[in-house]
Amino acid sequence: MKYISTRGGMEPVPYSAILLEGLATDGGLAVPETTPVVTPEELESWRGLSYPELATEVLARFAPDIPREDLARMCRDAYSAENFAAPEIVPLTPLGDELTVVGLSEGPTLAFKDMAMQFLGQSLEYVLARSDRALNIVGATSGDTGSAAEYALRGKDGIAVFMLSPQGRMSDFQRAQMYSLTDENIHNIAIDGVFDDCQNLMKALSEDLEFKRAHDLGAVNSVNLGRVSAQSVYYFWAWLRQTDALPAAERAGYEVSFTVPSGNFGNILSGYTAKTMGVPIRRLVLAANENNVLDDFFRSGVYAPRSAAETHATSSPSMDISKASNLERFVYEVLGRDPERLAAAWRELAETGRIDLAAEQPRFEAEFGFQSGTSTHADRVETIRDVSARYGVLLDPHTADGIKVAREHREPGVPMLVLETAKPAKFPEIVLEATGERIGVPERLAGLLERPQRVTEMADDEAALRAYISEHATTR
Ligand SMILES: *Cc1c(COP(=O)(O)O)cnc(C)c1O
Repeated sequence: MKYISTRGGMEPVPYSAILLEGLATDGGLAVPETTPVVTPEELESWRGLSYPELATEVLARFAPDIPREDLARMCRDAYSAENFAAPEIVPLTPLGDELTVVGLSEGPTLAFKDMAMQFLGQSLEYVLARSDRALNIVGATSGDTGSAAEYALRGKDGIAVFMLSPQGRMSDFQRAQMYSLTDENIHNIAIDGVFDDCQNLMKALSEDLEFKRAHDLGAVNSVNLGRVSAQSVYYFWAWLRQTDALPAAERAGYEVSFTVPSGNFGNILSGYTAKTMGVPIRRLVLAANENNVLDDFFRSGVYAPRSAAETHATSSPSMDISKASNLERFVYEVLGRDPERLAAAWRELAETGRIDLAAEQPRFEAEFGFQSGTSTHADRVETIRDVSARYGVLLDPHTADGIKVAREHREPGVPMLVLETAKPAKFPEIVLEATGERIGVPERLAGLLERPQRVTEMADDEAALRAYISEHATTR
């Protein structure tokens, strides 16, 4: 099992080699040479497995280069009772009307990024130790992705994290979550500027190949294939749990649909991967908020990313995207895995600001199973209110976007599973607006706001950042 680039310019490499790289060496994204296939009999034989055991089976298909017992140990350590609040790791909550919420936010930062990051933290440490290398992660965050990376990489050998955040622009909770980490290898840097300034600093460093190489700089963004593969596991899990109650004779091939609150197209792409591997998934419904470039794309076949100025700040902020960095992997499939057609499409994007696949659009649903929809602030508020009143379940705004769009795409007789991407406790304002209920932080995070915080304040100054990284970078 080897990995190649969507743009065709990379020699096939094993799984452990692509974990360390965000992009393929030619600027494309890494994809499996062939999709690993799981037969219905194999799928059925996994029914009795715990979440970490199932993760081992699924990830072994992606990573035959990692010995099975090492992979099993990493999955146990990633998906442990210490890291995840629910004993089953991913609990399913039925809401009636054939809608079920799949709980992906039981991890340390109360959001679904933990599902992939916890595994990536284990596997990066392992691969680095085996190759005697160090890795210094430089990232920029406006809140959530940064904390998932920090919680996954804290205390890991051979890894340091330099996370840039905009000074004074995160919630008290987000700040406390990140800045209260006191591990030596975690460096929180508050930049005197906005999120875009942080991102520009990060880009400047990553484009300086000499500096990058000298200090072993890397990133763990949402195009990392380790994340995509780890996320496919919970689609297997959700299908197995949803079909547990069926008579054994009816399970094989029993179709369910998923609705996925989406931003960078990473989560739903993992669902597509699970579908091609053999999970009986009928529809993958993409839920967008007001920043609905992807809903437009799935309805029209035209992909037209927006500028930062055209991107709204909404009450489901983790879906506020202007372009969707993982979409290239889907377009690659649509174009018949032809790197030349793919590269031509991306040239068209660079020249005209859009990719026109209107001729292929009917295949998006018929062949690949994708549908899409949009949800607004008013929809989120109404959905949170309704689901709380009807079922006594509180939703976060991203999951509410998912439920709203899921309800529009339900088909009789086909269970619809909606991925819960965050806990409502992270978004108390909208919960208050919708239900009148004041929710506090969950019990296991009590005291978080009072813990001592450690952060380095810095001007929006590339030279100062370089000096800081040179001084604190980890080495082997
Ligand atoms: C990251 C994130 C999303 C979007 O996921 P993608 O993989 O980028 O599509 C949705 N909801 C929450 C809460 C997130 O943190």
